[in-house]
Parts: sequence; structure tokens; C-alpha cells
Amino acid sequence: MTTQESEAPVTGQPVGGTLRGVGVSAWFGARKVLEGVDIDMRAGVVTALIGPSGCGKSTFLRILNRMHELVPIATLGGSVLLDGDDIYGTALPITEVRRRIGMVFQKPNPFPAMTIGDNVMAGLRLTGRKTANREQLIEESLRRAGLWNEVRNRLGAPAGGLSGGQQQRLCIARSLAVRPDVLLMDEPCSALDPTSTRRIEETILELKDQLTIVIVTHNMQQAQRVSEHCAFFLAAEDEPGRVVEQGETEHIFGSPEDPRTADYVNGRF
Ligand code: ADP
Ligand code: MG
Repeated sequence: MTTQESEAPVTGQPVGGTLRGVGVSAWFGARKVLEGVDIDMRAGVVTALIGPSGCGKSTFLRILNRMHELVPIATLGGSVLLDGDDIYGTALPITEVRRRIGMVFQKPNPFPAMTIGDNVMAGLRLTGRKTANREQLIEESLRRAGLWNEVRNRLGAPAGGLSGGQQQRLCIARSLAVRPDVLLMDEPCSALDPTSTRRIEETILELKDQLTIVIVTHNMQQAQRVSEHCAFFLAAEDEPGRVVEQGETEHIFGSPEDPRTADYVNGRF
């Protein structure tokens, strides 16, 4: 895709921070579901989290922006640092954590009765931030999410009329409107058709120089297409999920060191 064909990238955006999980462990009640997860998630590098269902990927992702505090509480061990600041410490208020670290889920969840434009602005309202120029922020966010050209003439239409893939890009635009440093994506394409999936992947690749992206995916081709760093999670029976192996995506898929990684990435498990 040439620069002319792509929606214009936004210049002057702050480049996102480094998010670092250090020895992250988690318990639901007495049950330990994550053990000692260390991952560096750097700006400009898409990090993919892969592994079978139930190994703690979503739990880890939620811990990365304190989202797990909204579901039945998991006790947490270790720490999560955003540009060196503990997101569970006093340096970063939780509203700032949630603003700087956005999240997109498997099932697109725009407010269907709300207009497309209002959906983009909805996240901003939640963080209590105001903008001097609503129209400009809507356009900027939709452009960054690769949706502007498709919806520019229908910003006042309800979001429920968009296709599933468009709704997911709208959710990305909503996350981007608060200008986060990090975007966490939990299986963002699992509910989408291949064409919509490809559009989301293009969006990820266009955004990656502007912020830190972490994506959970069960699609091995997708992990290879979009990520440079890849962490393979696994939970043995009655054991917490651990990172078995991580490194450059090319390495994880081309010459994994652990036979369990090789089995998983080659579909033998
Ligand atoms: P993944 O995203 O890799 O499929 P999850 O993070 O969703 O894995 O789940 C990890 C483990 O934690 C699973 O065994 C799951 O059953 C358990 N779990 C997840 N959420 C909760 C919860 N709210 N309460 C109790 N157990 C949970
Ligand atoms: Mg999950």
C-alpha cells in the first residue's frame, strides 16, 4: 500500500511507552492462574501473546491496564511498569492508567444506538477529558483506525448499522481518541471474516510506529504477519499459565527452542 492510498498517518503523536510485566502472577481465589510472567512490550514493536485457551492470556492482558479489578478480583503478584512507573503504585492514578493503556476486545462493543461520531468520543468522556475540537478529534481517530473514508459521510448514523469489521475499527478509533500510549487487543479478529481481519491487521501495522501494541491471537498466520515479538503461554494440567518461550516472532515460528512451542505453532497439540 502506498502512502497516498493509505489514510494519512497522524504526525506529531507521542510515541507510546514501554510496558513491562515483571514476575506477574495471578490467583483467582486459591487457584493460581499465572506464574512469573516477564514480558517487555516496546513501542514500535507489536507483541503477540499466543497459546491455548485457558492459559491466562486474557488475565495477563487485563492486569496490564488494571482491568481485572473490574471482574471478580484476581490477586496479583509482581509488577507492571509503564515507562518505569508501577501502574499499581502511587505515581500513576488509575484514570491515567486506563487513559494511557487502551483495550479492544474480541467482540466489537460499540454503543449501537449511539452515532458513529459519539462512539468515538465516548471513551474521552469516560476519562473526563475535554477537547477543543470535536470534529478534528473524530476525524483523526477514525483515520488512525482506517475507517474515516468509509464513514466520513455518515458520522451521525447509529454505529449499529456498521459491519462487524467496521464496528471493531470504530472501537479502535474510540480507544485512540484518548491518545493512549498502549493498545491491548484481546483476539480482536476472532469474530470477524477474513477481509475484515485483513483490514484490522493493516490498521495495526499502520499504528505500530505510533504506540505500543499487544495482541492476543489464536491465528498463527496473524501473529507472524503483525508481530515482531511473540510470547507463548502454556498451562500444564492443574498448573498456572507460564511463558514457555518468547523472542523474535520469526524465531518463535522458524526455530523454536522448546518442543512444546514447536508443537503449538505447528498445530500439533
Ligand atoms: P485465556 O485468555 O488464555 O484463554 P484466561 O486468562 O481467560 O485464559 O483464563 C485463565 C484461567 O483463569 C482459566 O483457567 C480461567 O478459567 C480462569 N479465570 C479467568 N477468569 C476468571 C474469573 N473471573 N474467575 C475465576 N477464574 C477465572
Ligand atoms: Mg482469552
